[in-house]
Amino acid sequence: MPRRALIAGNWKMHKTVTDATLLAEQIAAAGRDATDRDILLAPPFTSLGAVTGAVEGSGIVVAGQNVSWEEQGAFTGEISPLMLKDLGATAAIVGHSERRQIFGETDSMINKRLRGGLEQGLSILLCIGETLDERESGDALAILEQQVRAGLAEVSSTQMASVVIAYEPVWAIGTGKTATTEQAQEAHGFIRSLLCDLYEKDIGNSIRILYGGSVKPANIDELMAQPDIDGVLVGGASLDAESFGRIINYK
Ligand code: PEP
Repeated sequence: MPRRALIAGNWKMHKTVTDATLLAEQIAAAGRDATDRDILLAPPFTSLGAVTGAVEGSGIVVAGQNVSWEEQGAFTGEISPLMLKDLGATAAIVGHSERRQIFGETDSMINKRLRGGLEQGLSILLCIGETLDERESGDALAILEQQVRAGLAEVSSTQMASVVIAYEPVWAIGTGKTATTEQAQEAHGFIRSLLCDLYEKDIGNSIRILYGGSVKPANIDELMAQPDIDGVLVGGASLDAESFGRIINYK
């Protein structure tokens, strides 16, 4: 079965509730005819409820930018799967490189977040990616393997139906540098074969792998033409309805 494309926007720490509502409405309008692909929006936690309301009936999935493995308790600054669901979110991102690099999240924490979210019925977008140093020292694929194995530890084949992987080379995030299509395809092909080894082949072949890192209207068509790129995770260009609309409606 062909994998359905997923175009995801990560708004990071941008937009007030009013601005987020307007942007979500504009994106829903821009994506109205794109019925053969999925769209996901990850606004800040404060705007989740408003964005869910703004995209109601459009089929757009709303996601948290992170999720705790605990249901409730003394965990200042965290948000639980139940709280995300309460605001209408049905998915969460885990392991974004900004969480790993700026906030020190480890593979084991990310795996706990992923499993906690899945257990509560959320879909999970697991981000992985190597730094520039790791790429230049020839370790990129080994790092990806370690992040996939650790991130998906104790995740069953059945649960993998609710997991999407996002390959985001850290050196390409917010820098304007995009991996070449050859670099991206090499990484995606490697992740795909690893998933086929870890799970049954048909499960490995059914998991969507997104590319992220300075995706823009100018490079979306070429990226989406690669056989193992099933969609994109977009930061900066998802903050503007016109550019994200163009990305959603890639050829
Ligand atoms: C991201 O935040 O996941 C990302 C890929 O950002 P940008 O598109 O701005 O590089």
